[in-house]
Order: sequence, then C-alpha cells, then structure tokens
Amino acid sequence: MNTNVSKADYYEVLGVSREASDQELKSAYRKLALKFHPDRNPGDNAAEEKFKEASEAYQVLSDSDKRAAYDRYGHAAVGAAGPGGFNGFSGSVDLGDIFGDLFGEMFNTGGAQQRASRQLRGDDLRYDLTINFEEAVFGVETEVKIRRLEACAVCHGSGSATGRGPTVCSHCHGRGQIRYQQGFFSVARTCSTCGGRGSIIHDPCQTCRGETRVTREIKLAVKVPAGVEEGTRIRYTGEGDGGRGNGPSGDLYVVLAIRAHDFFERDGQNLHCVIPISFPQAALGAEIEIPGIDGPVNLKIPEGTPSGKELRIARQGVPFLNEKGRGDLLVRVVVQIPKKLSRAQRELIAELGTSMTIENKPTSPGLLEKMKDLFT
Ligand SMILES: [Zn+2]
Ligand SMILES: [Zn+2]
Repeated sequence: MNTNVSKADYYEVLGVSREASDQELKSAYRKLALKFHPDRNPGDNAAEEKFKEASEAYQVLSDSDKRAAYDRYGHAAVGAAGPGGFNGFSGSVDLGDIFGDLFGEMFNTGGAQQRASRQLRGDDLRYDLTINFEEAVFGVETEVKIRRLEACAVCHGSGSATGRGPTVCSHCHGRGQIRYQQGFFSVARTCSTCGGRGSIIHDPCQTCRGETRVTREIKLAVKVPAGVEEGTRIRYTGEGDGGRGNGPSGDLYVVLAIRAHDFFERDGQNLHCVIPISFPQAALGAEIEIPGIDGPVNLKIPEGTPSGKELRIARQGVPFLNEKGRGDLLVRVVVQIPKKLSRAQRELIAELGTSMTIENKPTSPGLLEKMKDLFT
C-alpha cells in the first residue's frame, strides 16, 4: 500500500472540533463505532474502513499524550503506520471500557458486568449452517454438533490439581501486562510469564494442564425461524466457549447459508419464477395450476397477455420473519413458439395467419433494447 496517501484528519474523522472534550470524543466515537461495526455491516468493506479509521482516530485522541503529539506533529508523531497499516487495538489505550459499553448496547447484555469479567469470559463461537431453500422459507428445527471449551470436570475449572488454585503472577503483579517506554509513549505488552492471565498455577491439573477448560463436543438444538435470509445470524447466549477459571461463557452464533432452489429465486420476501405458456393461453387468457413453494397455486392469465409479462400472486411468497403475512409470488410468463407442429396444427395456424395480419413495420433498436428485459 502506498504510504504517501494523505490520511484524514483525526478530528474530522470523528466529526469533532480540535477543542473537543474527552466525553465529546468518546460519544462521537461510540456513534461511529455502533454505525460502522463490522458485525452490523457484514461484508461491507467501506463500513469496515470507516470503523477502522474511527477506531484509530479515537485510539490516538483519547490518549492525552498521543493527542498532544498529534496536535503538534500530525500523523507522523503517532505511529509509522500508513493508511491501512492500523493493526487493531494493540496500543496502550484501554478500549475495554468503551467496548464493554458498546457491546453491551449491540448485544443487549450488561456492559458493566461484562467489563468486570472481561478477561475470563469465554470466546464467542460461530457455526456455519447450510439449509435448504424451503427450510429458510418455512423454518426448520435441527441439531448441530459443536466443539467448545467447557470447565474441566476433574479440577472443577480451577486448573489446580490439589485445589490450591492460582497465585498472582509475580512478574506483572497480576496485571497480565508489562508496560514499557517507547519513544513518546508508554506501550503495553502481554506478560510472557503468565500469558496475560495475571496468575500462575503451580500444581496444574493433569487433565486440563492448568488451562481450567477442556474441549468437548456437544449437540445443540437449533430452531431456524421462517423467513430467514442468507447470512442471518442466530445467537445462542452462553453456548460459546466456557470462560477460563469458571468465568462466564461466550455466545454461539449460528450463521445461515441457503441452498439455491431449482426454479424459485428469492428477492427479500418475494419469490420469482418463469412459466412457459402457449400462444392460445396468452391470446385468449387461461387459468392454470402451477407449483408454488408449498403446493399448487392457481395462476390467472388475462386475455392478451404479452410474452414476458410478470404476473403477481399475492401472499404465496416467503413469510415475514417474526411477523404475520407473506410476500408475493411473481410469475413471468413466456410464450413458447413450438418447433414441431402436426399437419393439423400447421393448417390451423396458417388459417389463423390469413385472418390475422400484422404490419411488419421497423422499430428502432434502441426501443427494442428498452423492452429487452421483458422478453428474456
Ligand atoms: Zn504475569
Ligand atoms: Zn482440570
């Protein structure tokens, strides 16, 4: 990446004045982070960039030393990383506070509680579940097998063989981090003696080797509601990895992928399909039965229907998620011109031809182009 590209001004990124207070910075950042968080904008690279940009700006401006250096010397003073070189929240600013609140808001959990037990909480897990088209439309109950960390049954999650339990790490004095000076700044590194845990187990449990947790495979009943879409996430609170040392469990997210259907395509809550009809059906009108997503449905073709016309059958689409009602079924009728005709048919059509004249008048190709999507 070209590091000569000029970076956006941190104050402009957060939309605050250069005199903004800490509280103003925090609230500006929270607004942006909530809006552009990758969990809320899956697959949206622009949002992710905005999120990173705002995070980087906040990380610098919320630290009074870094802010002073930035005000004085600009970007060069606060890290050599060029655009895109920002590598997460590895600096010395404690983002736990703001993110405790942030995730509390995003996932409706108690921010304060999560903050207090942040280091002990187990990881969130993701399970990718592929379901059939009809299962997404009407919902399905299934069972998934997941591997996760659970409290070791032998040491009851203490990690200690004799029950003595962990003792405070003497190297970092329980902080889990070692701070040192680098240039302008104080930088924090994970303590290598205790691995960031802040404590050490001197008599590790043989089963979990002092980790306090072991991997287990469990089965979990998953209920997919009707009307879900590709990428829908279903959250199972507390079904993720167990927390170290009997800390709270993380959550499990079941992320849905949906298989394609043989002939239905989905557009939100509406379904689309194409049905061939004959020239007499198109010209005279007809009532035909076609396969719907959950059984046969009647389709009324009005007299004089042009080929390519889309007909709507109300409430034969996808049920609304967590709501009453369904979308519609949209059927595009395409008039089929037969390639093989019997002698009798040929005579009838010839007779029709003599009584049915059409002016073979040229039309501009541009006009035809406009109508093209009607006929494909
Ligand atoms: Zn330590
Ligand atoms: Zn154990």
